Amino acid sequence: MRLDVDFVLYASIVIACLIPLYIYRKKVFSSVLKKNDISLFIRDIKKHMQVEHPKIKIDYAIIDKTKDENNIEVRQTIIVEDIVSQFFYYEYEKKTQSDIQREKHWQGYEERSISNDKYPNDWPIRKDFAWKRDNGSCNRCGTKIQLEDAITVFVKDIKDGGGYNFENIIILCSDCNKTINSQNPKNSISSLQLNEKLMIYVQG
Ligand SMILES: [Zn+2]
Repeated sequence: MRLDVDFVLYASIVIACLIPLYIYRKKVFSSVLKKNDISLFIRDIKKHMQVEHPKIKIDYAIIDKTKDENNIEVRQTIIVEDIVSQFFYYEYEKKTQSDIQREKHWQGYEERSISNDKYPNDWPIRKDFAWKRDNGSCNRCGTKIQLEDAITVFVKDIKDGGGYNFENIIILCSDCNKTINSQNPKNSISSLQLNEKLMIYVQG
């Protein structure tokens, strides 16, 4: 009987000690969590850029530069903004693309490749071939895109005498198309889909 009373007493003390720890658990563990959260965030964000945009080489110096920022959400947002900005300013030059196998050219291909204000009526086939030639990925950043989301641009603009031949057709994703045609960097950067995709990793 005596043992039972002791047991209840000690158990009560242990529980009483655990209550404040439970109530203040966020404060007690916050410093530990902060460290873990940022490393997971960094891992996720690096993986995202590597897998989704393999052609864009990102400099992650911003991670170290923001190490004194105690607000984790603020720090992560600054890191995201820096990466999106690097994505935008990453140098890209439109270069002549490869042709598809000559034997796959169809009748009338050459004639309809000549520069013309109006797209040739075989344009959907050309776009489809160019997309397959590039393994369904963006020429600038390397992200995978569905055919219906692929945007085509020309190495040499049609108005400047460029043609509809495969060597002149470039496949881009919408963010890269927006980037290379940007007139207003600030607006363009904030409207990139990459923002939303990376902000998903930021803890609110
Ligand atoms: Zn792209």
